[in-house]
Amino acid sequence: MQNREAKYKRLREEMVFRQLEMRGISDPLVLDAMRSVPRHLFVSEALMDQAYGDYPLPIGEQQTISQPLIVAEMTQAIGIGPDDRVLEIGTGSGYQAAILSRIAFRVYTVERIYSLYARTRKLFDQLQYYNIVTRYSDGTSGWKEESPYDAIVVTAGGPEVPEPLVKQLAVGGKLIIPVGDKYTQELIKVTRTETGVKRESLGSCRFVKLIGEHGWKE
Ligand code: SAH
Repeated sequence: MQNREAKYKRLREEMVFRQLEMRGISDPLVLDAMRSVPRHLFVSEALMDQAYGDYPLPIGEQQTISQPLIVAEMTQAIGIGPDDRVLEIGTGSGYQAAILSRIAFRVYTVERIYSLYARTRKLFDQLQYYNIVTRYSDGTSGWKEESPYDAIVVTAGGPEVPEPLVKQLAVGGKLIIPVGDKYTQELIKVTRTETGVKRESLGSCRFVKLIGEHGWKE
C-alpha cells in the first residue's frame, strides 16, 4: 500500500513536470493542486496505472476524465484565488472539481448522470474535500440559489454559451466553456463587466456533449 502510493506520487510529479510545466503551465497554485490530488483515485481500479498518462480516460456512462493538460489549462485560464466561489458544470469523475477546490474557497459542482454524481460524491467524502458541494441536476441552468459566482467552469461542450450561466456570474467573474459542434469546440472565456460581457477564444478543444435545456437536446 505504502509502495503503491509512493509510486503514484512519483508518476504525479513526472506528469506535472513533463506534461504541464514543460508545456507552459506556470501558475504555482495550479501546479501545486495538480501535485496534490491523487488522480488515480478518480478512475476505476483497472485504469489506475494509466491515470497519469497524457490522455483522457473513460469513467463509465460514455463519459471521460479530461487529459491532465486540459484540466491545468482551464484552471490556469480561469485565474481563481483562495476567496473565490466557483461553479463547475459536469462533475464526472470529480477530478476537475478537486483541482479547483484546492485553490478556491468553495466549489459547487453539478452532474446530470445519477451514478456518476453518487460515486463522485462519496469519493469527495473519502478524500475529505469538504469544500466541494455536489448537486444532481441539469447544470445548463446553473445553480441560482448559490449565485453569483466568481468563476464558472463547464467541462462539457455546448452549442452556445448558456445564458443562465452568464447571469449567475458576479461582476468581474469569468466563465469558461467549450462551444462548437459534437466533434470539435472552441474554448470560450466570457468575463462579466460592469456594462456587459467580454468574450474571447482560448483555442480549440474536444469535450463530451453538454446535454440539457440550454445545451444539446440529446
Ligand atoms: N469534470 C469532469 C469531466 C467529465 S466529462 C472530470 O474531471 O472528470 C463531462 C461531464 O459532464 C459528464 O459527466 C456529463 O454527464 C456531464 N454533463 C453533461 N451535460 C451536463 C449538464 N447539462 N449538467 C450537468 N452535467 C452535465
